[in-house]
Amino acid sequence: MQIHNLGFPRIGAKRELKFSLEKYWRGESSQEEFLAQCQELRQSNWQLQQDAGIDLLPVGDFAHYDHILNTTLLLGLVPKRFVGHKADNNGENNLDLEFRVARGQAPSGCQCAASDMTKWFNTNYHYIVPELSSSLINNTDSQVNIKPLLAQYSDAKVISAHRKVVLIGPLTYLHLSVVADEDKLVLLPALLARYQQVLNQLSAAGVEWLQIDEPILGLELDSQWQQAFSQAYDTLEKGALKLLLTTYFASVEHHIDVIKALPFDGIHLDTIAEKSDISSIIERLPNDWVISLGVINGRNIWKTDLVSVYQILKPLYQQLGQRLWLAPSCSLLHSPVDLAQEQKLDQEFKTWLAFAKQKCHELSLLKAALLNNSCDEITLYSEAALARSSSTRIHNKEVQQRVACLTGQDYQRKDAFEQRKQVQQKALNLPILPTTTIGSFPQTGDIREVRAKWRRREITDHEYQRLIKAEIKDAIERQEEIGLDVLVHGEAERNDMVEYFGELLEGVAFTQFAWVQSYGSRCVKPPIIFGDISRKKPMTVEWTQYAQSLTQKPVKAMLTGPVTILAWSFVRDDIPREQVTKQIALAISDEVEDLIVSGTQIIQIDEPAIREGMPIKRSQWQEYLNWATASFCLSAAKAPSETQIHTHMCYSEFNDILPAIIALDADVLTVETSRSNMALLDAFEQQAYPNDLGPGVYDIHSPNIPSVEWMVNLLEKAQCYLPKDRLWVNPDCGLKTRGWQETKLALENMVLAAKQLRARS
Ligand code: GLN
Ligand code: ZN
Repeated sequence: MQIHNLGFPRIGAKRELKFSLEKYWRGESSQEEFLAQCQELRQSNWQLQQDAGIDLLPVGDFAHYDHILNTTLLLGLVPKRFVGHKADNNGENNLDLEFRVARGQAPSGCQCAASDMTKWFNTNYHYIVPELSSSLINNTDSQVNIKPLLAQYSDAKVISAHRKVVLIGPLTYLHLSVVADEDKLVLLPALLARYQQVLNQLSAAGVEWLQIDEPILGLELDSQWQQAFSQAYDTLEKGALKLLLTTYFASVEHHIDVIKALPFDGIHLDTIAEKSDISSIIERLPNDWVISLGVINGRNIWKTDLVSVYQILKPLYQQLGQRLWLAPSCSLLHSPVDLAQEQKLDQEFKTWLAFAKQKCHELSLLKAALLNNSCDEITLYSEAALARSSSTRIHNKEVQQRVACLTGQDYQRKDAFEQRKQVQQKALNLPILPTTTIGSFPQTGDIREVRAKWRRREITDHEYQRLIKAEIKDAIERQEEIGLDVLVHGEAERNDMVEYFGELLEGVAFTQFAWVQSYGSRCVKPPIIFGDISRKKPMTVEWTQYAQSLTQKPVKAMLTGPVTILAWSFVRDDIPREQVTKQIALAISDEVEDLIVSGTQIIQIDEPAIREGMPIKRSQWQEYLNWATASFCLSAAKAPSETQIHTHMCYSEFNDILPAIIALDADVLTVETSRSNMALLDAFEQQAYPNDLGPGVYDIHSPNIPSVEWMVNLLEKAQCYLPKDRLWVNPDCGLKTRGWQETKLALENMVLAAKQLRARS
């Protein structure tokens, strides 16, 4: 039996990769220095795994920026616009080329539009989307280049001779790419020719095992893609290589008949993501395959109850013997690196957790238990995991009861939208095409400094309040000057929209170093939802009330929605996600009530993450959307008809979830549409959006100042889809990453655009 990893976090326990990248990008280190740091990081990752008892080290899981971008470089499929800059020819590593694809720029100069970045399945990791075309793929000038990979393979030998190469498979690579004006599958034969060269070279280099990742098998592939899958692996000649077909994030039970007929030497199955009958799957597979079982959750931070895993594995080990391999469910990329660094967690809480390094240790404990046929050590180890499930710290009867007692009415506003709209119009007296923003205003260095000082206890609570209030006052005055209709307090007190609420909720914990890579050098440190959630005290009322006291115009309060808080956290695994979300929704609902009592007339509940929480399999979408929208509704339902509820989403591709968006029944929905030139609104051709809508009229991600004409033009387009009296005018997201100067100019133009259109009616 062997234990292995599909991949290890490359960012480093102290985010070494992040800091090396940023240094290199700032021009403060040379290419050689940067590459040496990466090499060191890889070595220490391998060493750590080796020390933890991992039998087969993954090679090829490391990336300077992203592993899909690595695959693009390896296959020689970098889009034309990035290639041909002088600097690319002076080294073998093509580092600047790589960063140009990822970021649109490189230290060597020359700017071009970066490739798109998008979410890696349902994780919070983002990959660089390959841009493919037949002309690119058939261009023989650009060749596959596996030298860097082979160099790493030989580097790893210093630590262990037992290694495997990790590579994204051709079907997944193609599926995740964008292809303009062609059917993706038309490109497959040429893509396979490139993969064939890679396989040949790996085989010639004496590589034994190739882990070929095909996570798209977790999707419900149509027959065309299923056939393509069969044909591809029937065609590829593996030479002396052994192929471990690797799947994760979902069960692949529905594709076993396709898979089993192909010339693989083994398969990796994620046993965590979805419940499935592993032994019946194994029975259907060829009886000489390696069966690698992903039995440790690669995407959370909880210690595993190894005894219960052992009980499942024991008969399988008896049956499979050497053919059984064990691994985490997926690459450990999605898990923080080392729990040992945490110094501020209390001792009991810490015993409940396991990060990447500890997960390797769990594998080796399991292996030992199976080999020795003894549970003693794992029984001891698992005590803490069991203690968590019965700990009083995670259970709050009152909260559980509140959720249990919910009835249909708790999810519904009292009146229908049309009636609410009338009452709100009377209460708020807004002009048509009202102007507003999405919530945050520029987070200046000063603001960050104030928060940091307060956290370090260098200033008193009182002083902190005073300084934040000064920021709020400034934001309100500026908005008045700009002439916006619905104002916001500006979110100066918030570092992050989930962290802010997480810190104020019971049942949520924070770590010091549990960073996980989000993309490139960006890492996130998700809160840990460990217990039943409740609100300790009002979370936003004071700031909102203060802002409102400064102006006659309505101030819109800002809350983060329950689905987003869930999606951007590590979540407890002992109760369903739906339950957790409802608990959060109740806490938000309490806040809504308090805001209303304090005189707030408009409340925005942000839900930028509804879409990304969707399950991998389409057949499971509806069930998820049902409870996700219900949770949002639960958080808003207490608002009386005269209180206007807004929500915001940072994307516009919701053709396929439009009914769910409508079901949120927010009075006003603001979305991102400016980049797509209002193309989003096409979704409304099939089904009209029934409530008010604020299609973002400018892209806050760009420092460019949008002209009045440009925004008038977009609003005119929007009016083809929605009547004027249901349209709002706003940017497409929060402004916290922008500076004040550009913000002021952009918003002034936006207000002018609204006024011009109003004048026409
Ligand atoms: N209210 C938040 C802001 O303005 C919304 C951020 C988001 O949508 N991601 O920053
Ligand atoms: Zn947004």
